[in-house]
Amino acid sequence: MEPRAAAITDRLGGATRLRWFRAPGRVNLIGDHTDYHDGFVLPLAVDRDCVVAAQPRDDGRVIVRSVEVAGAVNVAADGADEPAVVEPVWARYAAGVVRALADAGRAPAGIDAALSSTVPVGSGLSSSAALEVAIALALADAAGFRLPTAELARACQHGEHLATGVPSGVMDQLVALLGRADHALLIDCRTLAAERIALPDELAVLVLHSGLPRTLAGSAYAERRADGERVAARLGVPALRDASLDAVRDEPRARHVVTENQRVLQFADALRAGDTAALGSLMLASHASLRDDYAVSTPELDLAVDLLVEHGAAGARLTGAGFGGCVVALVPRAQVRAVASKTVARYRAETGLDADAFEVQAVDGAGRLTAPVGA
Ligand code: ADP
Ligand code: MG
Repeated sequence: MEPRAAAITDRLGGATRLRWFRAPGRVNLIGDHTDYHDGFVLPLAVDRDCVVAAQPRDDGRVIVRSVEVAGAVNVAADGADEPAVVEPVWARYAAGVVRALADAGRAPAGIDAALSSTVPVGSGLSSSAALEVAIALALADAAGFRLPTAELARACQHGEHLATGVPSGVMDQLVALLGRADHALLIDCRTLAAERIALPDELAVLVLHSGLPRTLAGSAYAERRADGERVAARLGVPALRDASLDAVRDEPRARHVVTENQRVLQFADALRAGDTAALGSLMLASHASLRDDYAVSTPELDLAVDLLVEHGAAGARLTGAGFGGCVVALVPRAQVRAVASKTVARYRAETGLDADAFEVQAVDGAGRLTAPVGA
């Protein structure tokens, strides 16, 4: 058995009636801080994932262990436990999903489960959504419960809100479910319509972790969301998605949302048309807007973007909520290794930080595995 599958079954005492599920992390190519303003995003599911093995329990408890993090989830399968206060902290994400699925009508079937994730934690590649979606699939399966994909994504998003109190958008959960190999997804976060768009063969997707965890993301996130909602209310539109550029020209944060939505749609057009030259400049414009207008970048993320471009990336930008975490770049395939190693070396020389640069592949969204991971 593959080592990760062995580590998972080990946590379950070598159980034999296991069913396996996986959900990927994601990287967002363009469209950050737009999802919760009903806007557009363009992420891909990546080849880093959370794998869960589960079997039924007949005492109405949901027990989950993690290979990476100590402590166990132990909550009532009917969602009675308050997600925001259960311990350990990571159990809140699972408890949130248990509660959200119970609210959606899932019967209170218990499970014994263990998980292992290769999505870096707290880096902006959405290890949290990978975990939520993988657990949700295991919970739904154990209860014979089915939800349409968009509703399952909404339930997992709701679970994250219950767990963290951060009013995050639905992008992460939706792409974890709907990702497709070799494709990115253009998602309309109002309707949850998602269009799969092929990625260009000649460009690789490179992720660079800045070596600094995301900080301040929760409070700054909630504050920015509330700011944007106030502007929308003042303008008399349902969400910033509906504001014109003229209406927000003098308001940097709202301006970011409006211009970022335009960039996402232009980026999607460029992908469909095979106009790879346009992609890089849209990513750079997105980064500048996140830095200057939305104010969620850091000096390290700015430096990483500059160095990636200096060494040959077609474009780069911070990805995810910002305040640390990762940068994403599109790089001519033949140059990926050179761009990564030169950037990491210069970044270390200038910041003293060890960045981790790795290529990611676009993969299919979450689902049941017919055999243990890799077996
Ligand atoms: P991101 O989603 O960008 O990785 P978040 O802060 O949203 O960052 O979510 C990270 C949290 O998700 C972790 O602090 C932990 O609570 C939970 N988590 C993610 N992966 C695991 C794992 N393998 N085992 C236990 N908890 C995990
Ligand atoms: Mg997250």
